[in-house]
Amino acid sequence: FLPHLVASLEQVEQTYIMVKPDGVQRGLVGEIISRFERKGFKLTGLKLFQCHKELAEEHYKDLKTKSFYPTLIDYITSGPVVCMVWEGVGVVASARKLIGSTNPLQAEPGTIRGDLAVQTGRNVVHGSDSPENGKRETGRFLLLKEKKGWDLSVESGTGDLSSLAALWFKEGELCEWTPAQAPWLME
Ligand code: UDP
Ligand code: MG
Repeated sequence: FLPHLVASLEQVEQTYIMVKPDGVQRGLVGEIISRFERKGFKLTGLKLFQCHKELAEEHYKDLKTKSFYPTLIDYITSGPVVCMVWEGVGVVASARKLIGSTNPLQAEPGTIRGDLAVQTGRNVVHGSDSPENGKRETGRFLLLKEKKGWDLSVESGTGDLSSLAALWFKEGELCEWTPAQAPWLME
């Protein structure tokens, strides 16, 4: 452990990255993982998982009123997904850039969606849209709360932690580790 090389806990964000069922079916899992790995972010959680309807609905609850919501739930539950947690300073916004625009036809070449997909309803990958949602979707806030007394409900202003569920990962499924390459990525 090299404390001087590790950014402070507050600076380190988590993002929930998910290879959607089309990405798994099309054999793009390795390709997608590689892009985050090569960038230099740290993988702290990884599993293949068959998402059920209740979880899909909770994950996409902000889109409940949209016309595409029912087909989105069908899509996300149509086969296994690969669930990942990636950590790092600025990882949330950076991952959204690596992923590209929601509509793959508008996504820049070089991005995952820009290179590997054509339709919004088959856009191969998910990434959290804010550090707060990153903690909620990964379940990381549970660990932080335990270790640091940190409370997402205070930060998010909801005032009610009981309304928050750790969505995709449970306690014990995330790994704390220091990659050997850490001093070659962060000065
Ligand atoms: N989606 C869709 N049709 C739309 C907009 C979104 O099928 O018109 C799906 C698509 O899979 C997208 C997901 O709903 O990735 C979530 O939408 P959001 O706007 O949050 O896009 P994202 O954050 O994934 O880029
Ligand atoms: Mg979104």
